[in-house]
Amino acid sequence: MEARMTHITTPEAEVLLDQPIPVLDHGFVRLVDYMGSDARIVQSARVSYGAGTKTLREDKMLIDYLLSNEHMSPFEMVVFTFHLKMPIFVARQLVRHRTARMNEISGRYSEMKDEFYMPEIDRVSFQKRSNRQGSSRREVPGELRERVRDIMAETEKSSYSGYDEMIQAGITRELARTVLPLSIYTEMYWQMDLRNLLHFIKLRLDGHAQYEIRVYAEAMARCVKAVTPLTWEAFEEHVLGAVKLSRSQAAELARELEAVSPEVARRYRLKKEG
Ligand SMILES: Cc1cc2nc3c(=O)[nH]c(=O)nc-3n(C[C@H](O)[C@H](O)[C@H](O)COP(=O)(O)OP(=O)(O)OC[C@H]3O[C@@H](n4cnc5c(N)ncnc54)[C@H](O)[C@@H]3O)c2cc1C
Repeated sequence: MEARMTHITTPEAEVLLDQPIPVLDHGFVRLVDYMGSDARIVQSARVSYGAGTKTLREDKMLIDYLLSNEHMSPFEMVVFTFHLKMPIFVARQLVRHRTARMNEISGRYSEMKDEFYMPEIDRVSFQKRSNRQGSSRREVPGELRERVRDIMAETEKSSYSGYDEMIQAGITRELARTVLPLSIYTEMYWQMDLRNLLHFIKLRLDGHAQYEIRVYAEAMARCVKAVTPLTWEAFEEHVLGAVKLSRSQAAELARELEAVSPEVARRYRLKKEG
């Protein structure tokens, strides 16, 4: 009979609970609650033959095996609930991750606060010509950086004052809010299971993701590491640190490696078998 392990907690996660992790200038990630841990993952993976957790080493090996072989359903047994505060342009990227359950503050029922994202001066950069997503490394002159921040501050002030004037005149909040810019902060409760959270973190920690969502992914990654440290270790090894090659890239690398060291080429098996 499996030892009962109903409500599992992790000491590192208990310390993080309810503590807002500051992100950007006014935002945060707050771990409201979590359900499960590494132990829950191994319990659920072993349920087919009635065993619970074993030694830490065996649990670690099992989690490593599950993750490296993409046997992902046991990771869905762990759930995270976050309270997030972020600019609307970040939230708009967040909602593309469709497996989350969320509830956002309503601009129809509550008045929006006068809080806007202002980038640090060294985050003001030129658009990269070769890549529509990224920002260029070309240095932006100091006066232009200041001017950008001034433009943002002036626009936000003017929008908010228009919003406030309409509210004071008794106009509906749902209409008045439409003049507010994407840099205004919003808040939400956001819940996801670990499988999908790892997928989110992989996509949004990547250098191609916008800096402002990357910092939220980093804060959530801190929570994942606290709740499920063994999974985080396996995730770093098999997902974050792994390199993806196309068929032709793998073939080219296999050829090069074969020429230098057939032994190493065999070890890395860059050609698909069968
Ligand atoms: C760098 C970057 C740039 C991006 N640019 C844009 C952009 O310009 N415009 C834009 O609209 N989006 C953009 N996105 C969002 C992107 O296209 C995805 O919608 C987002 O990353 C969520 O990924 P996902 O669908 O894998 O995850 P989720 O929505 O969280 O889904 C998780 C997994 O569930 C499964 N799933 C979910 N929905 C379905 C479905 N309908 N059918 C089948 N399987 C499903 C898939 O396996 C999926 O991987 C960008 C994302 C990144 C990281």
